[in-house]
Amino acid sequence: MIMVYCEQRNGELLNVGLELIGKAVELSKDLDGEVTAVVCGNKITQLSDKISQYGATRIIIVEHPLLEKYTVDAYTEALYQVITSENPDILLLGATLTGRELGPRLAARLRTGLTADCTNLEIDPESKLLLMTRPAFGGNLMATIICPERRPQMATIRPGVFPLPKPDTQREVEAYVFTPKLSEEDIKVKVQQIIAKVRKHKDITAEKIIVAGGRGVGSKENFELLEELAELLGGGIAGSRAAVDEGWLPKDLQVGQTGKVVRPKLYIAIGISGAIQHLAGMQESEYIIAINKDPEAPIMKIADLAIVGDWKPIVRRLIQQLKQT
Ligand code: FAD
Repeated sequence: MIMVYCEQRNGELLNVGLELIGKAVELSKDLDGEVTAVVCGNKITQLSDKISQYGATRIIIVEHPLLEKYTVDAYTEALYQVITSENPDILLLGATLTGRELGPRLAARLRTGLTADCTNLEIDPESKLLLMTRPAFGGNLMATIICPERRPQMATIRPGVFPLPKPDTQREVEAYVFTPKLSEEDIKVKVQQIIAKVRKHKDITAEKIIVAGGRGVGSKENFELLEELAELLGGGIAGSRAAVDEGWLPKDLQVGQTGKVVRPKLYIAIGISGAIQHLAGMQESEYIIAINKDPEAPIMKIADLAIVGDWKPIVRRLIQQLKQT
């Protein structure tokens, strides 16, 4: 059985858990066909309706008043109890901030291995082992890792790596409520207050249209033109690591291997060369437009539409046209 941890924040499911259910359903065809989704919190039974639509064959709602606010101690203990009572062959978690915190702690307590930040998962047809692929040596090669003896085989996967499956609104799976044994003494951290970070920009993984800039954009001021274009198109801005390192963009707008993985309907890459680490975060976009003065830049080879030239007059012209329509 494959178990998928579905993370919720303030009663809202994060997409990554649903993406992982979709992948788990595909992988389970080579195994026993069983996919169990697990969600933790307090008074969250209503989430089972949405989870059902994504293909899980079983849903476990782990509820307890001490799980109301996320603390790593309580969530690790609660998940540990579910995992040891269910004995999954495979456990998948999103590589979010909390998934990255829970994954290694759970793996250590379960005395198994963990492959972090995977970019692909497959089942080996002969051994039926999970093949967990992730970049290694600074992204210079892709390593496929197996966990031959210990169980569960554990992996964290970055949000956006797998597509969000189409929900089947007719599908209903009965949820089972698991009440973990938790006490105040188990929790060393007390959450006093949660202060939400005020973001100027939307989460780029949720954008349908992304206007991304790289070193070729030249300055922070020039990014204002990209912002204007993005706004006219109803999308958001993002950038390469070079643009982030220059201080032109905040880190949470970085696309790529050490940034976010995005798959929007339209990705416009402006002054970005298309290094492999950048492509790792955007090559699954539905339609890619690249604007670059170098026709040989790698991004031009994967673009659906490659525009050769100095980006500024091209973007100015685009903005002018969009304002007229
Ligand atoms: P450059 O490679 O310098 O490209 C600039 C491009 O702009 C060139 O193609 C040039 O022809 C074009 N240009 C210049 N002037 C103009 C103009 N006036 N008009 C039009 N085009 C113009 N990178 C990421 O992006 N994301 C990551 O997550 C990431 N992770 C990494 C992880 C590791 C371990 C390592 C080693 C590297 C990582 N990198 C990442 C860095 C990556 O290797 C590249 O260095 C980076 O993507 C380059 O950014 P760029 O394309 O903006 O800059």
